[in-house]
Amino acid sequence: MIKRFLLLTLVAFGCTSNQGDSLQAWMKDSKRVKALSTIPMINDLVRGVGKEHVECLSLIHGEIDPHSYELVKGDAEKFERADVVFANGLGLEHGPSLCTHLKEHSKCVTLGDHLYRQCREELLVIDGVVDPHVWMDIALWIRLVDPIVWTLSDLDPENKDAYAANGRDLKAQLKEVHAKVYEQMQTVPANQRFLVTSHDAFNYFARRYLATADELGSHSWKRRVAAPEGLSPDGQLTSRDIQEISAHLQRYRVPVVFSESNVNQAALLKVMDVCKKRGHVVRISDESLYGDAMGESYVQMMQHNAKLITEGLTK
Ligand SMILES: [Zn+2]
Repeated sequence: MIKRFLLLTLVAFGCTSNQGDSLQAWMKDSKRVKALSTIPMINDLVRGVGKEHVECLSLIHGEIDPHSYELVKGDAEKFERADVVFANGLGLEHGPSLCTHLKEHSKCVTLGDHLYRQCREELLVIDGVVDPHVWMDIALWIRLVDPIVWTLSDLDPENKDAYAANGRDLKAQLKEVHAKVYEQMQTVPANQRFLVTSHDAFNYFARRYLATADELGSHSWKRRVAAPEGLSPDGQLTSRDIQEISAHLQRYRVPVVFSESNVNQAALLKVMDVCKKRGHVVRISDESLYGDAMGESYVQMMQHNAKLITEGLTK
């Protein structure tokens, strides 16, 4: 089922997901716009808008942590070749060498700035820091399609009608996925909709898809999500963090913790161990969620997460 969906998605986006092929095409001279995105979730949006008119490449791919990413051999050339660079901003890309290249590129579009201008009140601040994981809320992520359309149209006015049409199609497709994910999450009874993951990447997901209407008004939806590791998985983990998450699991009788594909499971295993000592047995999910890594496509990522969470919480 997933394989069939992937094929459809790749056809819809008109682009291969093979990073090797993309890179080879990218390095060749071409008249088409070359768009470099920092993370694959942004790259997927750019592909959806640009289709055959834009050569797309994600700087970070696979299971690499975007928070602390530092440039590797060959990356500087990608920046040199890029007509435009799309970044998340909001503190996500905080590796010093990446920050420098983003600042110095002549055409860097920080999509988080657009959200900040358009809907600042929807951005989450966790412990005084803006949470950069906005892709976890599809309704919020859709808002980035327009600035991508505008940017590509400025760079390549000849194809502006195609970018506008592709943008409309992409927004319609994502709205549909958003509605389905919401519907699916509502099949989990409210008293079971508690998500515990490796790092703090799912706040936007919890607010949009797990919270009840009453909780949104009072901010009490925050109890719907917890993680031993903070907004960035490269931070220091303390025994207090482990104790707090274990207490949270016990308080809300949460039966499962969800690993993430690109984060070490050590913290979750410690949490499970503490829970067991407290007399509350917790299992780990059969498969991992996509938190900061995307897998094959953004849509597939969100559908995979919704399915896994639904099944895990209702088992
Ligand atoms: Zn993260």
